[in-house]
Amino acid sequence: MNNLKIGIIGAGSAVFSMRIISDLCKMPKLSGSHVVLMDIDEARLRNTGILANELSRVFGANLKIETTTDMTKVIDGADFVINTAMAGGHSYLDKVREIGEKHGYYRGIDAQNYNFVSDYLNLTNWNQFSLFLKIAKMIEKFAPNAWYLQAANPVFEGTTLVSTQTSIKMVGFCHGHYAVESLANLIGVKEYDWQVGGVNHGIWLTKFTTKDGKDLYPEIDKYKGKIQHKPSNPFDDQLSPVAWDMYDFYGLFPIGDTVRNSTWKYHRDLETKKRWYGEPWGGADSELGWKWYVEQLYKVVEIINQFATAIENGLTLEKVKDSMNLMPWLEDDWKNMVNELLDSEKLSGEQHVPFIDSVVNGTKRRFVVNMINKGKIKGIDDDVAVEICAWVSGENIEFEETHLPERVINWYIKPRVLLAKQALEAFLKKDTKLVADIIERDWRTKSSEQVKKLIDELYPFVIAEMKKIIEN
Ligand code: NAD
Repeated sequence: MNNLKIGIIGAGSAVFSMRIISDLCKMPKLSGSHVVLMDIDEARLRNTGILANELSRVFGANLKIETTTDMTKVIDGADFVINTAMAGGHSYLDKVREIGEKHGYYRGIDAQNYNFVSDYLNLTNWNQFSLFLKIAKMIEKFAPNAWYLQAANPVFEGTTLVSTQTSIKMVGFCHGHYAVESLANLIGVKEYDWQVGGVNHGIWLTKFTTKDGKDLYPEIDKYKGKIQHKPSNPFDDQLSPVAWDMYDFYGLFPIGDTVRNSTWKYHRDLETKKRWYGEPWGGADSELGWKWYVEQLYKVVEIINQFATAIENGLTLEKVKDSMNLMPWLEDDWKNMVNELLDSEKLSGEQHVPFIDSVVNGTKRRFVVNMINKGKIKGIDDDVAVEICAWVSGENIEFEETHLPERVINWYIKPRVLLAKQALEAFLKKDTKLVADIIERDWRTKSSEQVKKLIDELYPFVIAEMKKIIEN
């Protein structure tokens, strides 16, 4: 038994909730933790609560699960607060994109060089930024020793914002670095050493060697120009022509979502995206790829709903698992998801729970963390968050020495950092003139009148949605 209190805000998240809870159940030293699930969507919260209790029973984890819609309850006295919430949900993202497109900005105004990921808004996500700050300031007040674990996007701007505006302990996590495996599979190595570094969604393979230190980049080079890329899904882009072209230009391989965050060269329109990311979707951030993704997310929410109903009606998760073969309508991906959740040997790959275990129980592990730079990576401003490999044991965090070449720093990281800083300044000052200035520099802008009409229609909506967060 332990006295740990772990809060999850946005616990109804389609992407994270079940994965984090099943990881908690599989970490024996976290057994007995008090887990408080918080969400504003009562139906999602209820379903997550039912399944969390059931997972805890299946694994004998003895978690004390509580659900609440009250932010204070989840934070007060917490040791760790995980934030997976998305203010406004996917419909907010759709709406700001739709208004942007109406005024001539394909995929919305947040789609900018080095930031094309469709749920990673930094110019219009004032509601999400307000939520991050609200949570962080409540942690400062009600749980000043707690760690704030940021899963919600935008991780780069979010970690920078909270770390510069509050004094709490904070780390941001992203699972993009797992894409290193695609390169290992390509060259057929099973055992290897690797390192990535940069900023979130802008990370680079700074080390890739055999266990005895032999550089594996020459092995990658053998495949240059020889891959016929045929994506199996919109996110299958690690070996796409974009990745190879970026490698050619920057001199290091871009990893994970970095491949989505390049320049307009690959994103100008759907045809361009298809040419670079592959047919039929043109990558995850085209209108087709993103539609595919959001449909998958809604399916996850629906499956969680169906499973929770089944449990309520007296079934157990083990029985649900056994009867999945009798569900021809259930796609293999979902069957795999359930099997993985129930596999006691398999963690989800999300870093949040192993990080908690390492901090609490001192088990030394390697993570890829987002934390304020302060000299960790040379060439990147000190006051923004970097993504870097680090070893965590207790409260001790050792950052690996990480070097990025000038080409990456000057041509990728610096303009990306500038965009983040400008976006955060516009948010902190609530100054739409600053946003207008960014949009004036956008190649899609044909006149100042276009910018004015856009701002006049978009920002009353952005500000109204932000106020909902601040005032509730
Ligand atoms: P989702 O809409 O399915 O889930 C978000 C949850 O947040 C919902 O249950 C919603 O009700 C809840 N929520 C909204 N406003 C809230 C508030 N004010 N207080 C508490 N809860 C609130 O979204 P998703 O697709 O699961 O994504 C969640 C977040 O995770 C997004 O920001 C997304 O961009 C991010 N994400 C991060 C990574 C990563 O590796 N870091 C990967 C994928 C997605």
